[in-house]
Amino acid sequence: MFDCGEGCPSELSISELCAVDHLFFSHFHADHVSGFDTFLRCNYGRTDRPNHIWGPPNSCEILHHRFQGFWWNLAETGTWRIHSIEQDRVRTIRLENSELFSIGNPEEDSECQTIILETDAYTVEAMLLNHRGPSVAYLVKEKPRFNMNMSRLSELGLKPSSVDPQFEGEQ
Ligand SMILES: [Zn+2]
Repeated sequence: MFDCGEGCPSELSISELCAVDHLFFSHFHADHVSGFDTFLRCNYGRTDRPNHIWGPPNSCEILHHRFQGFWWNLAETGTWRIHSIEQDRVRTIRLENSELFSIGNPEEDSECQTIILETDAYTVEAMLLNHRGPSVAYLVKEKPRFNMNMSRLSELGLKPSSVDPQFEGEQ
């Protein structure tokens, strides 16, 4: 999810909100962050996937304050990593629900030029722009993938496999 303004989370179903892997903020003007409470309410105790939030420099401090604006005594699960994207590195803190999100546990900085995140399916690049302060522009690139036309394969008498056994050993 990119930015979380008012009304943005309500455009999604609860299950879609709970399936968001990464939340990326460009900057923290109120119109970009005022829906965050809804997002956090859905996901704060989530353990079935990692919880990551990304944003411009000082995201660690701003979002840590945001987490501390609530009572946390309903559950103890949930680990969050907040990433501040700076010019040549990403600074990360870890927040634990078991610590009432009160401690910003520092994690190792990652030095990065452009790509801040790489998964099996995509990469995310970040660049700092100026919008009365640093604002992050993100670029998502899906990795190439191959789709097979199963009916065409079976018409040809082939089975889905990276190498047809008939040709195995010939390459
Ligand atoms: Zn703005």
